[in-house]
Amino acid sequence: MQYKSTRDSSLRLNAAEVITAGISGDGGLFVPETLPGLTADDIAALTKKSYAQRAEFILGKFLTDFTPEEIRYCTEHAYNDEKFDSEKIAELSRLCDGTYLLELWHGPTCAFKDMALQLLPYLLTTSAKKAAADKEIVILVATSGDTGKAALEGFKDVDKTKIIVFYPEDGVSKVQKRQMTTQEGSNVSVCAIRGNFDDAQTGVKRIFADAEVGRRLADANMMFSSANSINWGRLVPQIVYYISAYCELVSDGEIQNGEPVNIVVPTGNFGNILAAYYAKKMGLPVAKFICASNANNVLTDFIRTGVYDRNRPFHTTISPSMDILISSNLERLLYDMADGDDAVIRGWFASLASDGRYEVSDAVKQKLSQEFYGGYCNDEETKATIKHIFDKYSYLCDSHTAVAVKVYEDYLAQTGDYTKTIIASTANPFKFAGSVLEAVTGAASDADEFEQVRALSRISGVEAPKQLAELENKTVRFDAVVSAEEMARTVLENLGIK
Ligand SMILES: *Cc1c(COP(=O)(O)O)cnc(C)c1O
Repeated sequence: MQYKSTRDSSLRLNAAEVITAGISGDGGLFVPETLPGLTADDIAALTKKSYAQRAEFILGKFLTDFTPEEIRYCTEHAYNDEKFDSEKIAELSRLCDGTYLLELWHGPTCAFKDMALQLLPYLLTTSAKKAAADKEIVILVATSGDTGKAALEGFKDVDKTKIIVFYPEDGVSKVQKRQMTTQEGSNVSVCAIRGNFDDAQTGVKRIFADAEVGRRLADANMMFSSANSINWGRLVPQIVYYISAYCELVSDGEIQNGEPVNIVVPTGNFGNILAAYYAKKMGLPVAKFICASNANNVLTDFIRTGVYDRNRPFHTTISPSMDILISSNLERLLYDMADGDDAVIRGWFASLASDGRYEVSDAVKQKLSQEFYGGYCNDEETKATIKHIFDKYSYLCDSHTAVAVKVYEDYLAQTGDYTKTIIASTANPFKFAGSVLEAVTGAASDADEFEQVRALSRISGVEAPKQLAELENKTVRFDAVVSAEEMARTVLENLGIK
């Protein structure tokens, strides 16, 4: 399997090369040359396997330059019951007739990012042996919350890696901050910066692009890499859970093998829903993708009109991991829908960079509306949905999942399409205890976030995950705060490079 860039179709690299590089030098994203097939017989065989074995089978089709032993090493270390609180890894919970929630938050940090970030460190270190002369990998992350913690947990104590995470001092929730500052592991480092998420992100990009810093790392036999969702190594593990969920429905007798399902995804950077689309292109029977957004509804408009326009106000919502106006992974979808025409993609993304806007061709608009339905909801509707799902089904869902449920309900009302449906549930409700508690009780709470976790547990009768409940008593290991200008020096000091 070879990979090319969305902005250069003539490029040919293997999986190890694209995973170590992260992003293509031309600014494009790496995509597989073709998507491997998945037959009904494959699905039937996979129903009898564990999650790790399903991952092994699917990864084997994409990472053809890895040996079977290497792939098995990666999947067995990532997906086991020491790391996940469910033997199934991803749990499928039946909400009501024909509607299933795919709980992707049974990993160490309680958000779906774990599904990929538990595996990525193994994929990266295996790739580095092949493609980067076994250099030590230094992961730099700028985070607004969930990604930083999931990357820290994934990379902690992984041989031949170091990870340094920067977060905006006042830009993350108290639980998220405590999750990061108490991080354990001998190869991890966490640093707050004075500024917002953009300052952190810009600072990290500047370090990546700094040739002098790069040379000094190379002298120390190290190299930078990235753990964010533009890396192919984060996308391929996400294809697995959609196929796995389908297998579960087949083996539970909820669907026949071959029967199409709909898939609903609460979307930000478009990585999660794109993985579902790739699963369909491989052969998974999917009828419609329902792309759910919060008040930052740039994708809803795009799916409905074919015009992507980021020139609009940015809203801070109670589903913060979806507060995004540029969904990077959309580029991979459009490359596929434009039949791999790299010149067309370069044109659209140049106009996004210069004008914040582009309009796709009629052919692409048609494919978009055939495959996708786009919808959004605001914070009030999100809270009302958390409450009504809890009252009606005794099921507690987080604010991101609630956006998906609400948009799905709107879809049902508009279309009457009762195809059986998988809704991606992306975070444990206790991770966003403040908003969930307010939704369930009807009153905002001014208690601190640890008290909110306890209150939510009392009221709902649901136990809080112990990794969150125990945070309050953990020792803070990282309390440094630096300015954006000091980030490069902080990195070099951390790595012991003079
Ligand atoms: C990251 C995240 C999302 C958005 O996922 P994308 O792949 O960026 O679309 C949704 N919900 C939660 C809880 C997240 O952490």
